Amino acid sequence: MSSKPLGTALVTGASTGLGAVYADRLARRGHDLILVARDAARMEALATRLRAETGQAAEVLPADLTDPAAVARVADRLATDAAITLLVNNAGMSLKGGLLDNGPAEIQRLIALNVTAPTLLAGAAAKAFAGRRAGTIVNIASVLALAPEAYDGVYSGSKAFILNLSLSLAGRLRETGVQVQAVLPGATRTEIWERSGTDVNAFPPGMVMEAGDLVDAALRGLDRGETVTIPPLADEAQWTAYDAARLAMGPNLSRRDVAPRYRPG
Ligand code: NAP
Repeated sequence: MSSKPLGTALVTGASTGLGAVYADRLARRGHDLILVARDAARMEALATRLRAETGQAAEVLPADLTDPAAVARVADRLATDAAITLLVNNAGMSLKGGLLDNGPAEIQRLIALNVTAPTLLAGAAAKAFAGRRAGTIVNIASVLALAPEAYDGVYSGSKAFILNLSLSLAGRLRETGVQVQAVLPGATRTEIWERSGTDVNAFPPGMVMEAGDLVDAALRGLDRGETVTIPPLADEAQWTAYDAARLAMGPNLSRRDVAPRYRPG
C-alpha cells in the first residue's frame, strides 16, 4: 500500500482478466478505483478484497459498454470527476469465428465495445486531462494490430484502430503533459478465449502469457514513458525499426504527382 495520493483510476472490463489485474496492481500502487463492466457482483467481490488489502477506495460502476447511454454515463464521469487521473480502456471482446461466420449484430457489438466505447471514453478523458494538464490514458490494443493475417480482421482491425488512435492522441497531448500508452498483448491467459470458443490450453507451449505478467510488464512500460508497449516482444529493435520505417514513409505519402509506376505507358 502506498500513501502517495495518485488519484482515481477508472478501469473498464474490470470484472475479470487483464482489467481485474490492473485494478489489483493500481490499488497496490495507491490509486483509488472505479471499476466498470457488466458483472456487478464480480466487481463488488474484487472491490471488497482490494479495499481490505490496500485501504484504497473502490467503487463499482456497472455498465454495458455496447450501450450508447451507458458509455455516455461513463464518459460523463470522466469529464466531471476531477479526482480521476488514469483511464484504463481495457474492456474488449473477440468473436466466435470471424467476419464470414457472424451476422451484423455480433459484428456491431464488437465494434461498439472495442472501437466506439474506448474512443468516446478516451476523448472524454483526453479533454478533461488536457484541461488539468495531467493524467494518463492506457488503451489496450493487441499485437494483432501489427499482424492482421494471423486472425480475423474485425478483431485485429479494432485493435489497429486503438493503436492508431493512441499514436495520434499521444502526439496531440504531448505538450499538455498527458501520457498516452497503447499496450499490445500477445495471447494471454484470460476468459476472452473461452468466451470466443477457443481453448487457450491447446496453444503451443510457450505462446501464452499469464495475465499478471502482462499487466506488470505493461505498467513497467508505462513507467518508462512508452507510447507503445509490447510485453512479449523480446527484441525491442524490431518495433523501433518498424516504427522508423513507417515514419520515414510519412513525407512521401501525399503528393501532387502520381508515382511513376502508375503513370500511363
Ligand atoms: P476477458 O477476460 O474476457 O475480460 C473482458 C472484460 O471486459 C471483462 O471484465 C468483461 O466483463 C468486460 N466486458 C465484456 N463485454 C463488456 C461489455 N459489453 N460492457 C462492459 N464490459 C464488458 O478479456 P481480457 O483478455 O482480459 O481482455 C482485456 C483486453 O485485452 C481486451 O481489450 C482484449 O481485446 C485485449 N487483449 C486480450 C488478449 C488475450 O489474449 N487475452 C490479447 C490481446 C489483447 P463483463 O463480462 O462483466 O462485462
